[in-house]
Parts: sequence; C-alpha cells; structure tokens
Amino acid sequence: MEKSKVSLTLQSNSFVLALNVENIRAEFPILSTKVGKYPLVYFDNGATSEKPAVVIDRISKYYEQENANIHRGVHHLSQISTENYELARESVRAFIGAEHLHEIIYTSGTTEGINLVAHCYGELLNEGDEILITEMEHHSNIVPWQMLAERKGIVLKYIPLLKSGELDFTQLDSLLTDKTKLVSITHISNSLGTINPIKDVIEKSHAVGAKVLIDAAQSLQHMKVDVKELDCDFLVFSGHKVFGPTGVGVLFGKEEILNSMPPYKGGGDMIKTVSMEKTVYNELPHKFEAGTPNIVGGIALGTAIDWLSSLNYEDIQQYEHELLEYGTQELMKIEGVTIYGTAEKKSSILSFLINGLHPYDIGTLLNQQGVAVRTGHHCTQPIMDYFGIPGTIRASFSFYNTKEEIDIFISALKKAIQMLG
Ligand code: PLP
Repeated sequence: MEKSKVSLTLQSNSFVLALNVENIRAEFPILSTKVGKYPLVYFDNGATSEKPAVVIDRISKYYEQENANIHRGVHHLSQISTENYELARESVRAFIGAEHLHEIIYTSGTTEGINLVAHCYGELLNEGDEILITEMEHHSNIVPWQMLAERKGIVLKYIPLLKSGELDFTQLDSLLTDKTKLVSITHISNSLGTINPIKDVIEKSHAVGAKVLIDAAQSLQHMKVDVKELDCDFLVFSGHKVFGPTGVGVLFGKEEILNSMPPYKGGGDMIKTVSMEKTVYNELPHKFEAGTPNIVGGIALGTAIDWLSSLNYEDIQQYEHELLEYGTQELMKIEGVTIYGTAEKKSSILSFLINGLHPYDIGTLLNQQGVAVRTGHHCTQPIMDYFGIPGTIRASFSFYNTKEEIDIFISALKKAIQMLG
C-alpha cells in the first residue's frame, strides 16, 4: 500500500508540517546515503532534484519488461511502449493545464525547448524585430536569443535587475514596443530565488502583440503552474528538476503558434511522407519530435509528475517557505554573510557569500562534511556581473529537506569559515 504523504498537521519544533516529510524522505533512497562518514545533506535541488523510488523502479521496469521502439510498431512491446509514452504525455498535459495533448512536445530539457523556439519561431521573425528577455535569465534563456539576433538582425533587449534581486518592471512599458515579437522570462530565478510576476508580464506583452515564453525550469517543483490560466504562449521545463530523469523535458506551445512554425530537426517520426522531391511534415506534436526519443525518460517523467501531483502544492509551498525563512534567519547570524536575492516573493533558494572567502573553498569544505551546495555563477553570469561578484554559494531546498539539515549545514559552514579564517 502506498505510504501516506499527507498527515494531520503535526508540530515539529517550531515547524507546522502539513507534509509528512519523514514519509516523503523514505521514498528517496539517496537521502539515506552517506558522503564518507557524514549523512548526505542535499541542498543542490536547484541544479537537479533527487528521484523517488517509484521513478527509479519505473525506469528498471521499462528496460526489464517493456523496452521497444515506439510509434508504428505492430508488436506487443512496441505497442505497450507507445501507449505508456503517450499516457505520460497526457500526465504532462493535465499537470500544466494545457488544452490539447498535441501542444505537449517532448524535448531533452529546458535548454532544448528554448533553442527550439528560438530556431523555429525565430524563423518567422524579420530584421529589426525585437525580443525582450531579462538580466536574471539562465544562460540557456540568453544565448539562443543572442544567436538568433546575430543570425537574423533581431534586436535583443533586457529588463534590468535591481539590488533586491527583483526585476525593474517600471521599465516594462517602455521596453515593450510594437516591434516586440517575443518576451522570454524565467518564472523563478535559479540564482536569486526571485518569483517573477509572470501573469502581469504576459498580459502586458500580449497588449503589444508579443508572444511570451515562460522558463519554468525552477517553478513546477515548487508551485502550481497552469498554462491556460496564465495564457502563456510557450512554457518549457526539464524532467530532472521535477523528480524525473535527466535527458527529457517539455515544451508547451499554443497549437496555432506551433502550427505556424517550421519544424526543428529533420528525420524519422516528424514526417508524413518523404519522396526524393519533397517531404510532407507530420502533425503536432510529432512535427517537432524527430528521431527515436528518450522513451524511458518520457515514461518516467510521467511517473514523476503523477507522484508530484499526489502532493498538495499549498503544503509544499508553505513548508519550503518555512525552510527558507529558517535558513535565512540562521545564515544571517553568521558574521560577514551577504545574501543575494532578497525579493519579497522568493522560492527556497539561498545564494550568499562570506566576506573575503571564495565560494569554491566553502563548497569544498561543506562537501567534506556531507553537505552538497552549488558554487559559482550558476549559469547566470549577467547576474554576477551586476553584483560585481564571481559567483555565490547556493543552497537550494526541496520539500524533502528538513530544519535539522539546515542546522547541520549552518554548523558545517561555521566550521568551514573557521578553517579558512
Ligand atoms: N533555466 C533555468 C531557470 C534553470 O535553472 C536551468 C537549469 O538550471 C535551465 C534553464 C536549464 O535547464 P537544463 O539544463 O535542464 O536544460
């Protein structure tokens, strides 16, 4: 029988737990492993999430019992694989509230999703058209647009960053013009934790006729996102950050826009007919899914999403907010700490530096005590340039983390500072 993930509200120290974190942790085998003699404290969830046993088991089951190539196979295994791959697509559709199944395009991840849009939607744009992004984007939401700008003479503009780690939306009205064809913005900053007011951005962008792409790489693991309610034109995310496997992700696009775009890659599956003279492209979603896809990845992503959907997002958000508040409060007690990203609306990401100490040294000494954090620019060099720093130490929490782990992290951090001091 499946373990209950939701318990009656129970009091643990000062935390009010609507989530049964202990039961959830028990579903993640890796969380009970050790780094040397230290229990693993995994605070690198912004980079990738750990995987629950149901996802790991689903991958094994696929290779043990179902492995076959999908689509057009007449044999038993091919039919099972195809059905499960398409059922997983339906899980994704329901999860993000898309209207049509064919609006869900499997990709290899967020990066590929953005590149696909930059390439294919970009084909519809002309010299002098404008694309608006922001100074807080991950490199994968900057570089494809810079490449497109160079290729097609498109003007790339940026919504500026503020010291709080929020974007300066007072500039939005003047940055949006009748030449703006696309606004591409992250929902949550992977370096600063800032939650952007994307609904507002979408409304304002639509008012000038621009389409909007939401980079949801950092949001779906923390909060409910509904593409129909948001009315975004594109949304991208990665499977590996939502408790699924690496190498698989999703691009949502509105049917009409996807149909207007030329295909991305040529090959099998994306065609209806091929002759020596001419190819007729397949319908959505296959038009954008050339070649043998990551079949097991797609299926296990569906499992991860079904698993995540069995939890309550409000409980997740409340609990992660408590972790963030507690972590922030404890971190601020340490002398010389600067926290980068102090937005009013923030996800459970703590980016910081300690006076004069290199983030890499701190990260290494934390690792020696079993604590996994990320150090560096987090693929957001413009943010680091803005703050005039080379990088930060980033602790990013998920709902399987605990207050006790934050205590371990803080005491390991104090030890590291002492060793370096
Ligand atoms: N966008 C954001 C906000 C991210 O945090 C990341 C990964 O950290 C990406 C894009 C790229 O995701 P992936 O490497 O899975 O394609």
